[in-house]
Amino acid sequence: MQISKRIIDLTREAEIALAPYFARIDEISFINTQRIMDLFKEYKVCDAMFCASSGYGYDDKGRDTLDLIWADVMKAPKAFVRHNIVNGTQALAIGLYGLLRPGDVMLSVAGKPYDTLEEVIGICGNPGDGSLKDFGVGYRQIELTEQGTLDFPAIKNAIDTIGKSLKVVFVQRSKGYLNRRTLTVAEIGELCRFVKANAPYAYVVVDNCYGEFVETEEPTAYGADMVIGSLIKNPGGGMAECGGYIAGTERAVELASYRLTSVGVGCEVGATLGQNKSLYKGLFYAPHTTAQALKTAHLAAYIFENLGYNVEPKWNETRSDIIQTVITGSADKLCKFCQGIQAGSPVDAFVTPEPWDMPGYNDKVIMAAGAFTQGSSIELSADGPLREPFTVYFQGGLTYESGKIGIMSAAEKVISDN
Ligand SMILES: *Cc1c(COP(=O)(O)O)cnc(C)c1O
Repeated sequence: MQISKRIIDLTREAEIALAPYFARIDEISFINTQRIMDLFKEYKVCDAMFCASSGYGYDDKGRDTLDLIWADVMKAPKAFVRHNIVNGTQALAIGLYGLLRPGDVMLSVAGKPYDTLEEVIGICGNPGDGSLKDFGVGYRQIELTEQGTLDFPAIKNAIDTIGKSLKVVFVQRSKGYLNRRTLTVAEIGELCRFVKANAPYAYVVVDNCYGEFVETEEPTAYGADMVIGSLIKNPGGGMAECGGYIAGTERAVELASYRLTSVGVGCEVGATLGQNKSLYKGLFYAPHTTAQALKTAHLAAYIFENLGYNVEPKWNETRSDIIQTVITGSADKLCKFCQGIQAGSPVDAFVTPEPWDMPGYNDKVIMAAGAFTQGSSIELSADGPLREPFTVYFQGGLTYESGKIGIMSAAEKVISDN
């Protein structure tokens, strides 16, 4: 890969400027790693827990212990983490269908939820497919304020008009595919307090995707009833092959577990088929891997800001998720960015990504992912829907070194004419 002096110099300059930010990221990673290792010790994590169970998977000590550890890591009363939750969307669907009943209302308070949830909720898709809407679940949405913060007066208003039918107050921590701020854990905590005070009968559900281990606490530590995420993002540490988790209050997680398997069965069954070790190892790695991704994001922000692009967050801003956006301004630059990331990946570096109609998404999407685990976005990956203003969303980086190579490659491609 040919990298110009301009990009090499800019990268060097970036790393000098970023040193104090990197030190803070390492500190958070240390705190989270320490918590996880203390729990591994407390729960006597041992080799036997990595054994495979089959069939019903009764008494799978590794699985049951990991659920307990996961709950404690999240400072939640209960949790389950499963390799056979196929993605974040399924984990979210399990949580939502677990809690919502006909006549209930779900209120999204950070604007439109992630694209793939639109069909789950019934905002779009085919009537009769089994969306929440098909089952008589209502949906309301409140936008963030112009400053990108939660609009508490509007939330209060919605709580008052919906009344007791309000069952789920839904908040997405990360920006997803939207041009908005990512909410901090403290802001979500404020929401939890507000909902408890004004609608104590409602569950606060957090789409925590991309947020795990960026801060020292998760939203459950601040009173969220349920947090949900994917193992091929932060909490799988780049080690988990697939999976998802749900953590939260006793009743909320129990209800979700009934949707995971069946009513009455919950999370006491489920063969782990030899996946326990990668889930444990993934959790162990998660704070560190998340730190690598965060450093990569800061570096990219610095470089692309200096190349004249509008980026979010800015290079020196504190983060609450690992996503970095760069407004590329054109389909051509968006594609170049993604192609540069692809060329700077450890796997599939020789292929050229092209935009395509992806299931669950409404616009064509271009995705760059040269990952060991297919679709894993804790590994360096970039994607963006082909719509104005052609924002590229990228995240990940298993190691800072490889993330840096990917970013340099993307920068080189974007400044080149071909
Ligand atoms: C990734 C993500 C999801 C789930 O997406 P999957 O591709 O199904 O794992 C949901 N919400 C947000 C904010 C996400 O980033």
